[in-house]
Amino acid sequence: MSYVDEVLEKVVAKNPAEPEFHQAVKEVLESLRVVVEANEEKFRRDALLERLVEPERQIKFRVPWVDDKGQVHVNTGYRVQFNSAIGPYKGGLRLHPSVNLGIIKFLGFEQIFKNSLTGLPIGGGKGGSDFDPKGKSDREVMAFCQSFMTELSKYIGADEDVPAGDIGTGAREIGYMFGQYKRIRGTYEGVLTGKGLSYGGSLARTEATGYGLLYLTEELLKINGKDINGMTAVVSGSGNVAIYAVEKAQQLGAKVVTVSDSNGWVYDPEGIDVEALKEIKEVNRARLTEYRKYRPNSEYHEGRGVWSVKADLALPCATQNELHLEDAKQLVANGCVAVCEGANMPTTLEATEYLQANGVLFAPGKAANAGGVATSALEMSQNSERLSWSFEEVDEKLKEIMVNICHNMDDAAKRYGMEGNYVAGANIAGFEKVVDAMNAQGIV
Ligand code: GLU
Repeated sequence: MSYVDEVLEKVVAKNPAEPEFHQAVKEVLESLRVVVEANEEKFRRDALLERLVEPERQIKFRVPWVDDKGQVHVNTGYRVQFNSAIGPYKGGLRLHPSVNLGIIKFLGFEQIFKNSLTGLPIGGGKGGSDFDPKGKSDREVMAFCQSFMTELSKYIGADEDVPAGDIGTGAREIGYMFGQYKRIRGTYEGVLTGKGLSYGGSLARTEATGYGLLYLTEELLKINGKDINGMTAVVSGSGNVAIYAVEKAQQLGAKVVTVSDSNGWVYDPEGIDVEALKEIKEVNRARLTEYRKYRPNSEYHEGRGVWSVKADLALPCATQNELHLEDAKQLVANGCVAVCEGANMPTTLEATEYLQANGVLFAPGKAANAGGVATSALEMSQNSERLSWSFEEVDEKLKEIMVNICHNMDDAAKRYGMEGNYVAGANIAGFEKVVDAMNAQGIV
């Protein structure tokens, strides 16, 4: 049996009931086959792949907190410190009822390669909890965040592990967590990113994931002889990534006609009103059913349906496994030319294969959404030098990073005879740097 197949089997046997983790590992290792085969003997002797798929450390802890009525709740907290070969662990904290160890491990595994692709010195990690911030009062969210950080603070630090936002963790949650960390540890350090601007946050970090997605998409289309200007786009999600993806897509001349949340989706034939979207989601923390109040000509539909709308460009920005094989078939039938992932692993493996087989340009999340964590790394740099850069300076660096990622994944795919396979290109380019650092540091 080939080394890749052997390790894939072991991962499934050793980590039962973690389907998302299996999926993420399979996607990466399958596309690394050529690289692994070229070094099979050495990698096998060094157990390189076994070390890559085994987190350096996994922390799981109890998070008790009291609600506004005096009721005590218990959630589970996680931090998976996956790989620190190229820098301190870096990755977000997801707060969502679906969170379990397998989900955090898939996200942490993805993060290793994503962070490597940014070209910046950050390792891979991820954390979170099955706490659901939806419908909770500010005081309840604070109670949870303080309890969560009381435990997490033992394991993180500006040079050890630097968490950030993800689904359910935005500026409010980061603020409460930062306050508690500072209180417990007594140090004012850049231990979290995505901080508010008054206490060490970076300009453009809020916009970074969505903007970065569009910078990469624009470049990808350009190197394939296409222009984003004038294209119609469908976006899923309506959180931080989706909002700023819509905003930048419109600035680049595309018309975005959909957004969605977990209950339904909006179709706005005149193009999504991003200011209305910001007010609904960022200010009022409300549902998308509100959108029609701002735009009476738009439609609201219950359930899923974004991928059935005819568009040139599809940008999944909601969550994992939200774009299935049937959706991919619809997109292809409707003439879609590119799918670029704003979320982490939003496209199933079968859907990805179908899109690639049918000539759709496909940019995987670990490349396309790396702008968020890249700008987090820029926030870390600013914190270290105790300076703040201007919006333009950060945005310019972000753009440069995304354009580089696009070319690096394109070049890596070409080097191994897989031109146009950006999944393979991104995995190979991310992997090479991590492996080089792991080899240099010995068996640790
Ligand atoms: N959660 C984001 C991601 O998936 C950002 C992580 C960070 O900024 O550390 O990459």
